[in-house]
Amino acid sequence: MKIGVYPGSFDPFTVGHLDVLKSAAKLFDVVYVAVLNNSAKSPIFTVEDRVSMIDRVIESEGLSNARSGSFSGLLVTYAEQVGAQYIIRGLRAITDFEYEFQIDAVNRHLEPEIRTVYFMANPAHSFLSSSNVREIGELGGSIEGLVPSCNYQYLRERLARQE
Ligand code: ADP
Repeated sequence: MKIGVYPGSFDPFTVGHLDVLKSAAKLFDVVYVAVLNNSAKSPIFTVEDRVSMIDRVIESEGLSNARSGSFSGLLVTYAEQVGAQYIIRGLRAITDFEYEFQIDAVNRHLEPEIRTVYFMANPAHSFLSSSNVREIGELGGSIEGLVPSCNYQYLRERLARQE
C-alpha cells in the first residue's frame, strides 16, 4: 500500500490545500492530513478545531482514502507510526521551494527511506495562504472561494470575532 502524509499548519485549511489533497488522494492508497501541533507558530485555531475542519472537508468531498491526524514530534516519526513511505507538500512560489529544499534535506538525513513528493499549486491558488485567509477574514473581507465551502460559514464568523 502506498501511504502518504500531508503535513502542515492548516491554520486554516484552504482551497489551495484541498487542491493538493485531492491530487494526492488520486496517487496514494491512503493520505493522512496531519496538523502540526507547534505552539511556536502561534496558531489562531486549536489543533482540535483544525482537525475537525479537515474532517468536514474529507467528508464533504467524499475523499474516502483520506484521514485526519495531528503530531507534535518529528514528522518522520509520525510518518513511520502511520506506515507512510511518502511525505506530500505543495509548492507555490520560489520562496516555498527554498524552504522545502531545506526541510527535505533534514528529513532525508533523519530517515532516508521516506521521500517527499511535491504538487505544484494550481495557478489560481498560487498566492493563497492561510495567513491571507486569516487577514482577509479578520478585516471583514470575503473569504468565499478561498476556503472549502463546508467550512466557509464557520470561518467567516470565527475570523470576524478575532482581535
Ligand atoms: P506549513 O506551516 O507546514 O508550511 P501550511 O499549512 O502553510 O503549513 O502549508 C502546508 C503545505 O501546503 C505546504 O507544503 C505548503 O507549501 C502547501 N500549500 C499552502 N498553500 C498552498 C496553495 N495555495 N497551493 C498549494 N499548496 C499550498
